[in-house]
Amino acid sequence: MKTFPFSSERILLARLDRGDDLLEALTALCAAERVEAGVIHAIGAVERAVVGYYDQAAGHYERLVFEQGLEIANLNANVSIKDGAPFVHAHVTLSDADGRCVGGHLMPGTRVFACEIQLRAFTGAPPVRGLDEPTGLPLW
Ligand code: ZN
Repeated sequence: MKTFPFSSERILLARLDRGDDLLEALTALCAAERVEAGVIHAIGAVERAVVGYYDQAAGHYERLVFEQGLEIANLNANVSIKDGAPFVHAHVTLSDADGRCVGGHLMPGTRVFACEIQLRAFTGAPPVRGLDEPTGLPLW
């Protein structure tokens, strides 16, 4: 186990624009606000979604594409450093017209309809991602 304690934080609310790529916009927000460590929560809706499912045996992400409007019932993410830049790792739960949910690891290609964000930026040495041999993932 690794821990990364922080002693202070800055809280920011933000709204994305219709048509934004959700993951790219979150990453751009962190870069613009110079956030290197933090957490993000968001709600809203998307016009299409792309999420990943990590196949643990195969060691790669399966890509799932949903070409429909969906609610962002929940978006939960963290911010750390990868390859020298702020990196957003986000998971989403998305609900359809019947209230049924799909979800997974947020990938590029998810197009925002509307999205309200709460960003908590931490001050201190950020976690840095590197290859974790047991999982094959870029972890802290
Ligand atoms: Zn993930």
